Amino acid sequence: MNQVALDQLNYYFGYASFRPGQEAAISHILNHHHTLAVMPTGGGKSLCYQIPSLVQDGTALVISPLISLMKDQVDALTTLGIPATYINSSISTMEQEQRLESMSNGDYKLVYVAPERFESPYFINKMNETHLSLIAFDEAHCISQWGHDFRPSYRSVVSNLNKLKQRPPLMALTATATQHVIDDIQNLLTIEPQHTVITGFSRENLHFNLIKGMNKNDFLLNYLAKHTHESGIIYTPTRKLTEQVFELLNNSGYKVGRYHAGMSEDERKEAQAAFISDDADIMVATNAFGMGIDKSNVRFVIHYSMPMNIESYYQEAGRAGRDGEVSECYLLFSAQDIQLQKFLLEQSTLGEDVKNEEYKKLQDMISYCYTHQCLPSYILNYFGDTEHEPCGHCSNCRDDADRQDITKEAQMILSCVKRMGERFGVSLTSKVLKGSKSQKVLDFNFQHLSTYGLLQHYTEKEITNLINYLLADGYLSTTASQFPVLQLNQASIDVLKGSKQVWIKQFKEKRLEINKDDQELFERLRELRKTIAREKGVPPYQVFSDATLKEMSRTLPKNQVSMLQVKGVGQTKFEQFGEDFLVKINEFIEEKGDDLSLLEEIPKSIPQKTREKPNEPTHMTSYQLFIEGNTLKEIASTRDLTTSTIEKHLFKAFGEGHELDWSYFFNSEIEQLILQEVKAYNDQPIRLKPIKERLPDEISYTTIKAVLVKHDY
Ligand code: ADP
Ligand code: ZN
Repeated sequence: MNQVALDQLNYYFGYASFRPGQEAAISHILNHHHTLAVMPTGGGKSLCYQIPSLVQDGTALVISPLISLMKDQVDALTTLGIPATYINSSISTMEQEQRLESMSNGDYKLVYVAPERFESPYFINKMNETHLSLIAFDEAHCISQWGHDFRPSYRSVVSNLNKLKQRPPLMALTATATQHVIDDIQNLLTIEPQHTVITGFSRENLHFNLIKGMNKNDFLLNYLAKHTHESGIIYTPTRKLTEQVFELLNNSGYKVGRYHAGMSEDERKEAQAAFISDDADIMVATNAFGMGIDKSNVRFVIHYSMPMNIESYYQEAGRAGRDGEVSECYLLFSAQDIQLQKFLLEQSTLGEDVKNEEYKKLQDMISYCYTHQCLPSYILNYFGDTEHEPCGHCSNCRDDADRQDITKEAQMILSCVKRMGERFGVSLTSKVLKGSKSQKVLDFNFQHLSTYGLLQHYTEKEITNLINYLLADGYLSTTASQFPVLQLNQASIDVLKGSKQVWIKQFKEKRLEINKDDQELFERLRELRKTIAREKGVPPYQVFSDATLKEMSRTLPKNQVSMLQVKGVGQTKFEQFGEDFLVKINEFIEEKGDDLSLLEEIPKSIPQKTREKPNEPTHMTSYQLFIEGNTLKEIASTRDLTTSTIEKHLFKAFGEGHELDWSYFFNSEIEQLILQEVKAYNDQPIRLKPIKERLPDEISYTTIKAVLVKHDY
């Protein structure tokens, strides 16, 4: 790889290595080929043109149909110390002219524009006066009739390109991977197949979960209680539900916003801004929310109800975890959701053909809710990406969930439905099974049924939940009417005959916990981030991402050098905010100093990453690379871990009896210096911090720890 590109990545963005696809896309552009990059949301498309713009002379023009995002992107670049601006209808004509003037003077590395600009001869003139390094087509699927968001004005940019005197390389970027769209973009922009980079759509940091037949509000309250101060989105299928869920959470004391198309534009803007600035932790919204929102620290996305198709589901769920941290996606499914989606589809004004197409897509969505397959694998299959191992952490893959045999209860419910003549809904059936003396039960003489009161030791709500579970898992059906009536199907008969068992999966939460001290520091750094963001008028995640703050909380960088090792801390960002964060971290170490002893630090070496193959001890991979002559920094970079984690891996391997070359860490002179300090402790517990302070500055914590480990302290 081009070393300059790598240096820029490190210097400006603070990242040690490129993600899959980025490297290839950047190389093609640097070799002056028109290039198409197809990468999932959060895959890192922006860097594919930002890095070449930094490596090359001139200005990169970025065409984007999402005007709402431009300011955000430009702010982010400016914060990184990269000169950039945008030109669209949201700024005055005079300001536009000034910016165009500066552009032709070469003042910017990147300029973002809306497609409509190309219709202006003045703009074309200015572009001809500008030395262009490349032209990027962001959201390039909007150029294609086959894309889900076709914009004719975007397509007409292509014919206007002929008016340019220069022929800079073109780069198209999109997250839509259907063959139709890809073909179309390749043809329009004359992009060769060998310059088309398609990376997988898998998002390994997203953990998918399907919750069936559980009371949705109970689930929400329970979940949120365990995830306070985390940022998340709750999607509902209707405005009415948005309002209801918003009320529920607002009344429960959560900092929550709402967003749907029935609100005024100002209200929506305000809600969105509060969410982005972390003033509101939770956003309850319809699918109107999210397009053009680039908040990287969304920790969970919960679908209150089944959405209309897999495309929308994956796009909405995919708004979680753009920063690469583990994030959770939940779909709360009940059989009534199907009725609702069918109803919405019937009500829509779509043409007959499109409607049929949508019904097919809905069917695939329903199958997702019934599948026993790995959930993300199901989704990737749907997109034609078939080469996948089970993810190991979705709710279908996890076999640690307590399973409970409810065949007997299921049989009671099913036979009750049968005896009631398959003419009633969930509520009356529950009452009969409970043995209720309500008027309606008596009116129909159901107190004489043999199934009356069979489940009397359950609450009525529990019985309702059981019935919903049977519906959700297809053991019972309902009619597609306004008041759905329970009906038996083939699966019900199998259960009644005893040829099929019914298991209920108890929902059990699994989450990688971060250490308590780490958590405390993380909260403090988050507060600091919020303060800085407010002062600078940018969203908090633009200061540093959650991932970056977590890494700081884990690795406790004490000075500029170690701070720059943290992923996401580049030179410019360090100059702006680094000191503030260092002060906070050192304050924390000061307070906790005595407790953060070596003994506590070593167990933290158990890596938080879950990507490793299960049977291969992860620290041995690092050890192997070290033996092969790689430096800690190189290993950290290839493994996408921090150097301090690698360091811990090596020490662990040593602890297990593997040889280690200590000369990498210290020479005998330094070793003696450190040992002298250490010996002063006699048999007292050793404190790293005072030792470090008494030694020359150049001796790092790593070196001290290495000596301690070598001498078995
Ligand atoms: P996309 O436009 O494909 O949705 P972005 O360009 O917004 O994705 O990138 C998503 C996130 O990933 C951003 O926070 C970005 O800084 C981060 N990112 C991009 N490339 C890298 C990399 N090579 N290493 C680490 N993080 C990266
Ligand atoms: Zn799975």
